[in-house]
Amino acid sequence: MENQKKGCLYIISGPSGCGKNTVFDALAAKDPHIGQTVSTTTRKPRDGERDGVDYYFISESEFLQKIDNNEFLEHVCYANNYYGTLRSEIDRVLNEYEKAALVIEINGALNIKKLYPSAVSVFLMPPSLETLRERIACRGGMSDEDLERRMQTALQEMEQRYLYDYIVVNDILEKTVEDVYNIINK
Ligand code: 5GP
Repeated sequence: MENQKKGCLYIISGPSGCGKNTVFDALAAKDPHIGQTVSTTTRKPRDGERDGVDYYFISESEFLQKIDNNEFLEHVCYANNYYGTLRSEIDRVLNEYEKAALVIEINGALNIKKLYPSAVSVFLMPPSLETLRERIACRGGMSDEDLERRMQTALQEMEQRYLYDYIVVNDILEKTVEDVYNIINK
């Protein structure tokens, strides 16, 4: 796939809590030709999250083994857990859909952009820091330290937004989805 289909890759990124997954879900409802890669993580599942749907949940030793086996296209350590996109995921999605979206954090996104310069990258900005804090806190299962750490990480991540092809402020969901839809269907 790497040569003929790389133009079909879309990166939807932004700080944790900026609404990436909500935006992607609404986008996928509007555009049946786009599918999302399922990431692999060592984070524990949150309530309602399903293995193989939200993530492939694996142990740290399994993750390290997959790094050794060169199975990841990109991987990062984020908030004390590993996250990564398996090479096989791009093929799986592009076998089924015309376009593949990676909904991932900033370092992974920039790594993918280096590997596939023609991939289209979109940075979603929260409308304000207060909104971001509320969105992160509302996930639950997070200590105050986790929340503060994620806020600090988010601030650093937002400084990198100009490295993306597009910046979209995620304030009103419908408007954000319309903007991202127009970007990917240009
Ligand atoms: P969460 O624990 O909130 O589900 O995810 C934490 C962060 O990791 C989010 O910004 C999410 O987009 C990002 N993330 C999820 N999967 C991947 C992945 O495969 N690679 C990278 N680089 N980041 C990911």
